[in-house]
Amino acid sequence: AKEIGRDAVQVFTFELADRAHEKLERQEELRRALAQTEFFLQYQPQMNLVTGRIFAVEALIRWRHPERGIVSPGEFIPLAEETGLIGPIGDWTLRTACRQNKAWQLSGLPPIVVSVNVSARQFQERDWVERVAAALEESGLEARYLELELTESLIMEDVQQAVETMHRLEQLGVHLAIDDFGTGYSSLSSLKRFPVGRLKIDRSFVQDLPGDSDDAAIATAVISLGHSLQLRVIAEGVETREQLDFLRDAGCDEIQGYHISRPIDAMALQALLCLSEC
Ligand code: C2E
Ligand code: CA
Ligand code: CA
Ligand code: CA
Repeated sequence: AKEIGRDAVQVFTFELADRAHEKLERQEELRRALAQTEFFLQYQPQMNLVTGRIFAVEALIRWRHPERGIVSPGEFIPLAEETGLIGPIGDWTLRTACRQNKAWQLSGLPPIVVSVNVSARQFQERDWVERVAAALEESGLEARYLELELTESLIMEDVQQAVETMHRLEQLGVHLAIDDFGTGYSSLSSLKRFPVGRLKIDRSFVQDLPGDSDDAAIATAVISLGHSLQLRVIAEGVETREQLDFLRDAGCDEIQGYHISRPIDAMALQALLCLSEC
């Protein structure tokens, strides 16, 4: 038994060393990806449920890895956050999204809002608001065509600080949304203090609609909570006509999801907008 115990410890250390090594390699790869612009953005349309118009898109980052193909953000954003690389990666995302949105406008498309995801670590950087201002300045995009998606958990890490930063962003003129709403712990009293324009109902509450009565109750409650606070409510992850119908009947303002479109490249988005608007 003693022997087995020692072997087990050995295997364990090897594995740990392996994993540490692998992590270092991944980190190096991320650095290279940034330097060689292996990242790119896709854009997923958001539709107003009353007008049927596509009025905004969410920018979603992807990594075109030379060997592994397209890597999704769930696989590298956590490491980027851990290593601090999220700072420069986040800057790249913000600047690219602003520049792209300005390019769409210049090509004659009706203006839309581009919504960008923000990580806690990024948001907490001392000069974050200045970076947002710089991205707008350098792209020439008007602030009202940019929205930042903040998660509840990001805000709740330091509510006082977050509210202050949110007010500074509001002064710039950018819109703010709370992402993944319902999965965090923001109390109703704190929600009231956030200068946000909309709530985004997390996909986990949408995927089993309309059949799941718990989720139906939660979605309905979030919609009426949002409306009573004068906020717009968008549901993400809408995949079916039945989900759309349920949400529309429940008074939800906007939806995003495969039912409208998957996230697509900038060119494809331009074609889609042109089809529906030009
Ligand atoms: P999220 O902000 O909740 O984004 C929504 C995710 O749901 C996206 O996954 C999107 O592709 C996916 N999705 C959209 N519609 C549907 C649908 O109808 N069905 C299903 N099953 N999924 C749908 P994605 O692109 O893999 O992104 C995952 C997460 O990575 C995002 O979750 C966000 O938290 C993070 N992320 C993406 N881009 C960025 C970025 O530029 N910066 C940061 N900090 N995080 C990002
Ligand atoms: Ca999001
Ligand atoms: Ca989500
Ligand atoms: Ca349930």
